[in-house]
Amino acid sequence: MGYLRHLECTHCHAQYSPDALHNLCARCGKVLFPRYDLERVRAEVSRDEFARREPTMWRYRELMPINDPANIVTLGEGMTPLLPLTEVGRRLGLRRVHVKEEGLNPTGSFKARGLSAAVSKAKELGVRVASMPSAGNAGSAAAAYCARAGIELFLVMPADVPHVNQVECDVCGAHTFLIRGLINDAGRSLRARGREQGWFDMSTLKEPYRVEGKKTMGYELAEQCGWSLPDVIIYPTGGGTGIVGMWKAFEELEALGWIGSHRPRMVIVQAAGCAPMVRAHREGREHAEPWQDARTVAAGLRVPEAIGDYLILQAVRESGGTSYAVTDEEILADMRELAGAEGLFACPEGAATYSALKALVRDRLVAADERVVLFNTGAGMKYVDLVRPTLPTFEPAHPPEALRA
Ligand SMILES: *Cc1c(COP(=O)(O)O)cnc(C)c1O
Ligand SMILES: [Zn+2]
Repeated sequence: MGYLRHLECTHCHAQYSPDALHNLCARCGKVLFPRYDLERVRAEVSRDEFARREPTMWRYRELMPINDPANIVTLGEGMTPLLPLTEVGRRLGLRRVHVKEEGLNPTGSFKARGLSAAVSKAKELGVRVASMPSAGNAGSAAAAYCARAGIELFLVMPADVPHVNQVECDVCGAHTFLIRGLINDAGRSLRARGREQGWFDMSTLKEPYRVEGKKTMGYELAEQCGWSLPDVIIYPTGGGTGIVGMWKAFEELEALGWIGSHRPRMVIVQAAGCAPMVRAHREGREHAEPWQDARTVAAGLRVPEAIGDYLILQAVRESGGTSYAVTDEEILADMRELAGAEGLFACPEGAATYSALKALVRDRLVAADERVVLFNTGAGMKYVDLVRPTLPTFEPAHPPEALRA
């Protein structure tokens, strides 16, 4: 253990000690990345070893920021299946479509990865009280991992986050508050109070280790594809920690000599009612303007501004990827279509990647034999409020044809 070397600013490259608590770069206010002694990892670890380890994201522990394994706070997150979508592929004329099924993570979303990493590091550095704004699932995951670590947690969430998130936070004992407004308003309202009280800010990308949990999606993808990478990744983007993390993971894997220089085209998808990154990408900008009146059923995408906007846009640009905004109507219809075709009950954010895949096919930006990976970032069961079936009563006397009507 102990391959973590320092934190490095993604903008001005200032370095910081990993033995103290940090948020953003003290010099320029940008995002910090953990950096490792990859030479030593390369000399001491073989990529074939991972297959013999536990089926969680902690199988990559040499590339994770924790020094003492006793500090790892885990509920079994990661190593989610990469499932073929054969029927979806057939309908769209594509031969190799897969989904990374993140809905199987603890607390039902991939937020578990980020919070397992962040809470573990907070525990290692002696944090007693933390705070965070959340659009829903991050709060649920933080509440679970903080409960497990014995860290007191203050959460502020928009009042209209899915009911299940409020229940999860409450049941895990987090001090949970609702606010009229969005996640950025929640963040602002927490900041002053948190500073005054000395609460550690665990906001995504303002806390340097959540991204390390999310990057493991990139490691798993490489391992599950036999140490190669797919041609296209479609990712539902809110704060962007997942895409930024995977992009970092690919860079690390190449530095380790475990993959080559081939990169997937990174395609980001957002909701038409809140698409600041798509707008910025399409206008060729390096930063995104905040989105006004953000509105979408996909709670995880209701993020009007992202501190890591420049990192998201860089990954899309450097990879030769693209961006799509899809409507709530498309998302809701595609939730049903995906479940009916594949038995996969995706969250609306995950269904949005399917909507975006259709747009890619329509725009002829993907070839029939290219390997495409969608990310279903959460379980559809967390969003049952969005699906209201009106089911008929079973009448055994009816002839069989009537039952199908
Ligand atoms: C948070 C969230 C997202 C957005 O993830 P980022 O990595 O922050 O962009 C997508 N889907 C779901 C279900 C989420 O909870
Ligand atoms: Zn800096």
